[in-house]
Amino acid sequence: MAEMDLIQRSKKAVWHPCSQMKLHETQPLLAIARGEGVWLYDTSGRRYLDGLSSWWVNLFGHGHPHIKAAITTQLDRIEHVMLAGCTHEPVVELSERLGALTGLGHAFYGSDGASATEIALKMSAHYWRNHGRPEKCRFIGLANGYHGETAGALSVTDIALFREAYGPLVRLSATVPTPDPRDAAPGVSAIDHARACAAALEAWLQAHHHETAALILEPLVQCAAGMVVYDAEYLRLARALCTRYEVHLVADEIAVGFGRTGTLFAYQQAGILPDFVCLSKGLTGGYLPLSAVLTTDDVYAAFYDDSTARGFLHSHSYTGNPLACSAALATLDLLHDGSALAQNRRTAATLTALSAPLAQHAKVNNSRQIGMIWAFDIATDDPLFSRHYHAAALRHGLLLRPIGNTLYFMPPYVMNSDECAWLANGALAALNEVV
Ligand SMILES: *Cc1c(COP(=O)(O)O)cnc(C)c1O
Repeated sequence: MAEMDLIQRSKKAVWHPCSQMKLHETQPLLAIARGEGVWLYDTSGRRYLDGLSSWWVNLFGHGHPHIKAAITTQLDRIEHVMLAGCTHEPVVELSERLGALTGLGHAFYGSDGASATEIALKMSAHYWRNHGRPEKCRFIGLANGYHGETAGALSVTDIALFREAYGPLVRLSATVPTPDPRDAAPGVSAIDHARACAAALEAWLQAHHHETAALILEPLVQCAAGMVVYDAEYLRLARALCTRYEVHLVADEIAVGFGRTGTLFAYQQAGILPDFVCLSKGLTGGYLPLSAVLTTDDVYAAFYDDSTARGFLHSHSYTGNPLACSAALATLDLLHDGSALAQNRRTAATLTALSAPLAQHAKVNNSRQIGMIWAFDIATDDPLFSRHYHAAALRHGLLLRPIGNTLYFMPPYVMNSDECAWLANGALAALNEVV
């Protein structure tokens, strides 16, 4: 009763994101009462394994004592103070630690991923302007890239469904071919396909570098495109080309940062250093909204001047919120000594082994895994596959939402082997119900 009431009230008062609200006439909302570890409990006490880490934000499970304690301790000191002209311990310590981890020492904060994209793009174009090259103000992204959905972020997001209605509002950026190995010609390896795509990037830069501020990309995995895993060679080549053609490289680590792909940051697997790194999602372990853009001394120096107008005058009310910074510091504590990443390698081996029947299923193509991400392309003619699979998964105690025909797992890092089995077995059973 309480559950129905909450769902009705939500449909009336809440406009849910990334949803056609009319769909909820037939597909009930999931009314969540509480969470613990990898589990979400609905208002009737049924539990669901959070197979998507609550939209890729949660790293160490729900209700983690260390993160909770960090937030409540900070709450007794100061909940928020403006960051223009003021500073505080959590934001200083977080900036120092992020600087030490990345080698990019200047942290600028926003509240969500899209605003991190906006900040990086604005900073890059403003850098060139401050260097007397205002014509360098265009951006490039990869085909099928995703960088958020505010108007500026949408200009570098190449996902038709999210962009179509707003095309006229946005100054669309150029896109270059994605190194998605599934696009490779028959017999062409992932690394050779990456090289061919880098050649296409070079051709574009040759023609347009003088008007281009930055290339933005998702290192190693284009998540929103359907967990496209590509070869690190592309990142090495793109880094070299950006340097050669004087174009910034922006690494959007919003989804892949903080150990998701097996290293603390995905770009580290290519042994490169970007000019900008965008962080959000897992930054606070999934507890509070926060994003950060890290950049080089060179970029910082271009804004450091007596003239106000040469400064970076971008602002958000909650910039550097102390509670969110404390959650981020606690998350970094949990990642600190590498043991969490070592544990993830063991968990990944367990879940990969348990998912073998799913990977070998007659309807599954291109099964892939990197770090704590698994994806399976499902051969189906059902245009509503994702919706039907989501409903079937719920019946098996799993929260999963395929992207198009790509079923994927992006679970919290803290799964034990029973939970891995629950996920693998339930995902297979749900698949057999819908294909
Ligand atoms: C989710 C995501 C964003 C946008 O973050 P929001 O917090 O949803 O605005 C940007 N880039 C990537 C790669 C993402 O996965």
